[in-house]
Amino acid sequence: MSDIEIAQCARMLPIIDLAREKLGIPAASLDPYGHYKAKVALDYIDSLKDRPDGKLILVTAISPTPAGEGKTTTTVGLGDALNRIGKKTVICLREPSLGPCFGVKGGAAGGGYAQVVPMEDINLHFTGDFHAVGVAHNLLSALIDNHINHGNTLAIDPRRIQWKRVVDMNDRALRKIVVGMGGTANGYLREDGFDIVVASEVMAILCLATGMADLKERLGRIIVGYKSDGKTPVYARDLKAHGAMAALLKDAIKPNLVQTLENNLAIIHGGPFANIAHGCNTVTATKTALKLADYVVTEAGFGADLGAEKFIDIKCRMAGLNPAAVVLVATVRALKFHGGVIKENLNQENLAALEAGFANLERHVHNIREHYGLPCVVSINHFSFDSEAEIAWLMKQCEALGVKAVLARHWAEGGKGAEELARTVAGIVDHQPGRHTFVYGDETPLWSKIETIATKIYGAAGIDADAKVKAQLEAWNTDYGHYPVCMAKTQMSFSTDPNAKGAPTGHTVAIREVRLANGAGFIVAIAGDMMTMPGLPKVPAAEHIDVDDSGRISGLF
Ligand code: ADP
Ligand code: MG
Repeated sequence: MSDIEIAQCARMLPIIDLAREKLGIPAASLDPYGHYKAKVALDYIDSLKDRPDGKLILVTAISPTPAGEGKTTTTVGLGDALNRIGKKTVICLREPSLGPCFGVKGGAAGGGYAQVVPMEDINLHFTGDFHAVGVAHNLLSALIDNHINHGNTLAIDPRRIQWKRVVDMNDRALRKIVVGMGGTANGYLREDGFDIVVASEVMAILCLATGMADLKERLGRIIVGYKSDGKTPVYARDLKAHGAMAALLKDAIKPNLVQTLENNLAIIHGGPFANIAHGCNTVTATKTALKLADYVVTEAGFGADLGAEKFIDIKCRMAGLNPAAVVLVATVRALKFHGGVIKENLNQENLAALEAGFANLERHVHNIREHYGLPCVVSINHFSFDSEAEIAWLMKQCEALGVKAVLARHWAEGGKGAEELARTVAGIVDHQPGRHTFVYGDETPLWSKIETIATKIYGAAGIDADAKVKAQLEAWNTDYGHYPVCMAKTQMSFSTDPNAKGAPTGHTVAIREVRLANGAGFIVAIAGDMMTMPGLPKVPAAEHIDVDDSGRISGLF
């Protein structure tokens, strides 16, 4: 059965009942969106603040491959398994973006028997949060052009506007556009462009904000562009935009509660891109879950060099979170891919390739233990084509590395298939205090922060950039030197070359561009080409999606 067929067989329980029974949330503190989705009220979240926090478990993975690793699937499976062994657990995930849904990736609500439901809603419009983020973003865009049209008293240089427009669709035709065409009534002609909603700084802000006041403050300090002197920033608050933007986000700021196929609770909230943003769900969601449950399982985008690094150095740093352990998802297939096997041949046993690709896993395990300072468990996501010999070799090799590896079958069996993983993880977090380390300190200058990430985590010899980029970072050190750095690099490799598989060393990470995301509160360092508006493939997934007369959706993977 396909993921959507399995999801449609789920016996969902009314979310209000489930939230009361399992987490003690009173019905009055939930805003239901139909029977199976609800938003948690902010005053209720506030009332939880004196409760102790549960244990935070991060799910990350080896470097992603087209073979698929299954982080979301593992997050859901581990959450269900922890609940099965009697550990009160809530999972925290990102909201899927509409764009990729119609492209190649399909849905992002887990897979097989480890999914969150209602998967169609979660993957399509859900509770409208992304819509709200898009509208808040575009309000600021409209205010900028309107300000210029009405005399431009702020002296915004139309050639130095950095705030584009956004839409939640993979639409390459909108990457670069011209606005203001058609004469004086339509404003001033200028070059503009669209990003996908998840790339909006408003999304990153929503995910890092600690409450409404912080949200508004962050929105106000967004830099939309520069004045005609070329260096004085123009802030969103100069346009008096932040109040109305925050008003549009008044519901989006509340975490969304749904359930897994096994009727355990999941909070799905926020979904920033894992490249130019930090790639994890909202701080509000994670903090709420930690108050409601004894264990919280969450996922960060891409591999452990990007997602986990940003989870720790950006999210945990800003929000004061203390993860207790990391689950590194690996598959035999992905490791063989790192060992040089092409996608079409991944179903054949190949111990030599597995051995060659193992270096990728080894580097990630090393980083998690040495540089993030956290205990690590390898979760081998079982695929039906994996051979016994391959799995045995992988388990043995992990043992030699001194890292516990567990074979997990949640995709095929649900929570039952990940019970051993759950016992292993609980065994660690129950007995070890969470004490992570950051990769770099707050006071490290910006250039050195990037250098530290590249050399420590990516195994690079060093970093490089042209004089303009270096000068920009140097200039920002005065006012923004304490900001963390958000690395934008290919997720396919430790290097900037997506084809350099395994664990490359000695490479140079060239920083092509740096951006100041002042509302989010980080510096984006872009290494290589980066797509902030994806395109659709030749045969988009959209061609196979349909809905019947009863409203039942098919083809959504
Ligand atoms: P990630 O979060 O790492 O991007 P997902 O958990 O979303 O990955 O999984 C990607 C896809 O792979 C999903 O369609 C899922 O159904 C599929 N998948 C995951 N694990 C397995 C497995 N063990 N066997 C077969 N397909 C799987
Ligand atoms: Mg995922």
